[in-house]
Amino acid sequence: MNTDVTKFDNNIYQIDVHMEGKPQRMSCYYIDSSDPILIEVGPSNSFPYLISALESLGIQDIKRTAITHLHLDHVGGIGHLNEKYKDNFVYVHELGLKHLPNPERLWRAVSEVYTEEWLKKNWGEIKPVHLDNIKSLNHGSDIKLESNRNLKALYSPGHAKHHYSFYDEFSGTLFMGDTLGLIYPHGDFVQPNLPPPDFDKEILFKTLDSFEKLEINQLAIAHFGVHKNARELIKDAKESIENWILFIRNIENLSNDDASNELLKWLIRNYESLGIDNETIKNYIGNGNFVMQIEGIRNYLRKRS
Ligand SMILES: [Zn+2]
Repeated sequence: MNTDVTKFDNNIYQIDVHMEGKPQRMSCYYIDSSDPILIEVGPSNSFPYLISALESLGIQDIKRTAITHLHLDHVGGIGHLNEKYKDNFVYVHELGLKHLPNPERLWRAVSEVYTEEWLKKNWGEIKPVHLDNIKSLNHGSDIKLESNRNLKALYSPGHAKHHYSFYDEFSGTLFMGDTLGLIYPHGDFVQPNLPPPDFDKEILFKTLDSFEKLEINQLAIAHFGVHKNARELIKDAKESIENWILFIRNIENLSNDDASNELLKWLIRNYESLGIDNETIKNYIGNGNFVMQIEGIRNYLRKRS
């Protein structure tokens, strides 16, 4: 199996887990230290890629895994990981204590959005994690990496209410999960990712504002990879989210499907007018679930009205 690992300074490794069989869709990260940690596992179907990448780095055991949030593209494979590495501790939002030992409810909830067939085919079935192996996070708590290096857990709701980001002050790296949106390679811009039921602009912007106060050398995001231009990307994300909400507000009489088609057409026109090449546009729009974006924004507008 091909492994796709990129090493960055300060012993940070980016692992491409080939989500949905495609490269550059989902990154997990590994920080090597006296007490190493894996950040994100990816969906169940990506588990073989994750393991072969870890083994290519000579890693035979995983003892700690931090999860940004309970969406299955991030946490789906955790039961598989804990079956293989029995001593692994999972650091996650406290809702993980409820859901990871009995993932059926999580599975059913996600199935309602994606359908069970789609989930099984694309992300794979999930397995439980023993309650004793789960540690719930608190805002500001430190996960020790070395005597002079910690990973700080930062509660970061807005995309999901169970979202944490992880800040490694030593390297100036912020492991953001999905708080920013999607940035695919060769695109230097953010495509919002605003799913129901939790997306909330005010809450998300508060999270992004708090990030702007950190000294950030690089952003490590899930979809996809490590990016240096943190400030511009955060600004770009906010602008795009505002524009998307305005656009959706103006087509409130359309069904979700029709609104999703309009959003897509508008987005392509915008990307083209910015001079973005066709390949990059295809990459971005081919991987966005636009009906879900409409549902997320409309749900937010209803909550706020
Ligand atoms: Zn995600």
